[in-house]
Amino acid sequence: MDRILKGVMRYRKCHRDVMVKQFQQVKDHPEPQAVFFTCMDSRMIPTRFTETNVGDMFVVRNAGNIVPHSHHFDDELTMCEPAALELGCIVNDIRHVIVCGHSDCKAMNLLYALRDENFASQANRRLSPLRAWLCAHGTSSLAKFQQLEITNFKEPLMFQAETPMRRFVAYIDPENKFAVEDKLSQINTLQQLQNVASYGFLKQRLEKHDLHVHALWFDIYTGDIYYFSRAGKRFVEINEMTETPLLKEIKKYYS
Ligand SMILES: [Zn+2]
Repeated sequence: MDRILKGVMRYRKCHRDVMVKQFQQVKDHPEPQAVFFTCMDSRMIPTRFTETNVGDMFVVRNAGNIVPHSHHFDDELTMCEPAALELGCIVNDIRHVIVCGHSDCKAMNLLYALRDENFASQANRRLSPLRAWLCAHGTSSLAKFQQLEITNFKEPLMFQAETPMRRFVAYIDPENKFAVEDKLSQINTLQQLQNVASYGFLKQRLEKHDLHVHALWFDIYTGDIYYFSRAGKRFVEINEMTETPLLKEIKKYYS
């Protein structure tokens, strides 16, 4: 707590006044641009690596940047993630949902280990809410990963995006740069796009191309950020060379 309290004192001294002014501006002209789902990992600081500020994004974080599929949704037992989608996309009229995964994700490393039936047993799940969370909501990503593993990571995978008709093909780590757990993390990130689109209250907007889903992936080791390009069928590093073509693609697909 020492570190936190000292941080609050520094914030009071250096940033508070500027932030309060920004809060006032946002209050009168709220224009949030994205609902951003990412992992709770302490190394992921999305507002820093996207240079976003007060009023720009709604950020939702959990273990493994997972958006549970709507078939888990129950009136009595609701979850945070669909409520956050409603608050962002319906109440605040946000048009873009971004799911951002990352390398060396502890949740994905654990999901990879859960391929072992004993490790994922019901008794173990009862003792570990994290295992239970991953078993309940990560198995679709794991199934896709195993489908890819059979082909030695050579064949592309098919994912669904905004609607069942809007599918896209993905080659996962075609240059074989990343560890198997990181390949799983990329698959898991793409799988969440389908999960976002599974909610009925978003259906009309998704069908009318009023709401779009995107995937980003952050490489913790190099600091590089990748955007999933549907035209390129892979995660493309965002850099000086790719910025213009990626912007063109985004404009063409999503404006
Ligand atoms: Zn993580």
